[in-house]
Amino acid sequence: MNKIRWNAAFVVLTFCACVAVICYAAVKIDTAVTVSDSVSQDKFMIVLDAGHGGMDGGCSTADGKTEKGINLNILLAVRDMGRFWGYNVDATREKDISIHDKGVTGIRNQKVSDMENRLKLFNKYPDSVCVSIHQNTFGDPQFSGAQMFYSDKNANSEQLASIMQKKFVDNLQPENQREIKLCGSELYLCYYCENPAVMVECGFLSNPDEAAKLTDKAYQQKVAFTVFSGINEYVGQFENK
Ligand SMILES: [Zn+2]
Repeated sequence: MNKIRWNAAFVVLTFCACVAVICYAAVKIDTAVTVSDSVSQDKFMIVLDAGHGGMDGGCSTADGKTEKGINLNILLAVRDMGRFWGYNVDATREKDISIHDKGVTGIRNQKVSDMENRLKLFNKYPDSVCVSIHQNTFGDPQFSGAQMFYSDKNANSEQLASIMQKKFVDNLQPENQREIKLCGSELYLCYYCENPAVMVECGFLSNPDEAAKLTDKAYQQKVAFTVFSGINEYVGQFENK
């Protein structure tokens, strides 16, 4: 190799080395941004609720599988994803229980106490993101698809519900044309929550095909990831403002 070729080779090698350093630095910067984001997200508190529990099974599939266990499985997976991502996460229940006050007797009184305690937790942390997980049911088994409910107590709840509805369509149910719905006081927790809140009806247990999916552990994980993605996108939009 003559001197000119050596010089050319040196220039090419130097160029390649520079590109490699720039690429490495870019990866390092990207990693740093990711870590920094997860740290800054730490200030966000996610409060999760698994509907029903204990004596209250909620709605059920044709073969008697109750909603409370499905809700809990999804909650536990969302909780773990949230904590892994650097959020603070609290939950109304992490077991198959009612959270009524000790000493309260009678099913009706226990239910009232249980709902009041859930609402206390939803209103406990200012600016927390609150998500209540439920399954739906209807007399006609043909109906299917997730639907989000929100209240006008907090102006941001509608946006949270919209993001969550779109996540279900994008991730799991492209045929789903349901629209988010403003709830009334019959959805106690959702209606009276002062923080941004959404009630996630993941699907219909009265629909045999959807019930088969919703009682499947792998599908529950997908639902959990969808719920977490919705929360994460909602929080991310705030951070970019
Ligand atoms: Zn329910």
